[in-house]
Amino acid sequence: MSDHEFTRALGYANAALELLKKSSIPPYPQFYELLYTYATGVNPSLNHRINAIFATGNSPSASLAETLYNEFLKSDVNDRMSTVSERMQVRIEAVHSAIDHAMTTANAYSGSLQSAQGDLERDIGPEALKALATRLLAETRRMQDTNRTLEQKLEASREDIASLQRDLDDVRRESLLDPLTKIANRKSFDEGLRAGIAEARQTGGPLCLILIDIDHFKSFNDTYGHQTGDQVLRLVAMTIKSNIKGRDLAARYGGEEFVAILPNTDINGASIVAENVRAAIHGKELLKRSTNEKLGRITASFGIAAFRPSDTAGSLIERADRCLYAAKHAGRNCVVTENTIADLAEAPKTGVSAA
Ligand code: GH3
Ligand code: MG
Ligand code: MG
Repeated sequence: MSDHEFTRALGYANAALELLKKSSIPPYPQFYELLYTYATGVNPSLNHRINAIFATGNSPSASLAETLYNEFLKSDVNDRMSTVSERMQVRIEAVHSAIDHAMTTANAYSGSLQSAQGDLERDIGPEALKALATRLLAETRRMQDTNRTLEQKLEASREDIASLQRDLDDVRRESLLDPLTKIANRKSFDEGLRAGIAEARQTGGPLCLILIDIDHFKSFNDTYGHQTGDQVLRLVAMTIKSNIKGRDLAARYGGEEFVAILPNTDINGASIVAENVRAAIHGKELLKRSTNEKLGRITASFGIAAFRPSDTAGSLIERADRCLYAAKHAGRNCVVTENTIADLAEAPKTGVSAA
């Protein structure tokens, strides 16, 4: 962590504590997390809600902080993960106790067999022999019963474990999705890029990264509200997703920024994909569902970088980000690749495929 990052994080931490004190909210970890998140501003919808409360001259109460924490930060995935692991624990304990019971019975049975062997080696009369046979029969039945119970318990566990496995798969799938747009989240993007780079390195095939940022989205939110802004984010996510295919991965990078990883695709192919997405976003006339109010159109800017063998994930993202910045600089609603960025530096409006 750099000094700069440290100072910035400390600033957020102090701001969060000040807000907790000012609002008389107990500084429990979840409330601290809530106000730290507020201080960073990374979740505009949360900030919008808290700002609306401050705007009335009030401060959020502890119970409202609880509601906001549950709504914005509490991870459903974590809760479900705990439930699955609790069920797993119960199931494992049940199997252990059934196995313990079966082993105790088996040991006792083996003891009985040994003592019967000792009796048989001595000369015993018909009465004692009969008693011995009856005892062995009863113990064999008990052993059979115990085995049957163990089998039933193991069978029930097998079914339960299969259902737990399905639940775990669901939780894992969800943990990789952005809750708002339902496309891949930052975590799956990071994993996807790592895997894509490893593959490109191994096969020597091309790999491109497209960074996408919605233009003037702050003013869209300010005009039409965050909820409508959220709908637009969903629409943009779906538009990107429907314009890629195969092993390409579309993800929400954060806020109003998206990213697409295109394995086995060179910069020309990636430019075509980006241009299709750009045109599709621009081509949609937005309507507010509840009122049918026309909201005009939104646009997005695109930056594309192609993988080089010397790249890390960070350096590839950084180059795509520079192209995105150039696209913003060139007037937005356009696609800039690393091949065109040099031309742009010389003459800012050329070499850009604008709408
Ligand atoms: P530019 O064309 O330069 O990208 O301008 P911009 O306004 O899009 O960029 P800026 O970084 O100033 O603002 C980004 C805005 O995106 C701020 C915030 O209101 C909005 N935003 C980020 N995340 C969300 C979200 O989850 N929901 C909504 N509704 N808006 C979001
Ligand atoms: Mg942005
Ligand atoms: Mg933007």
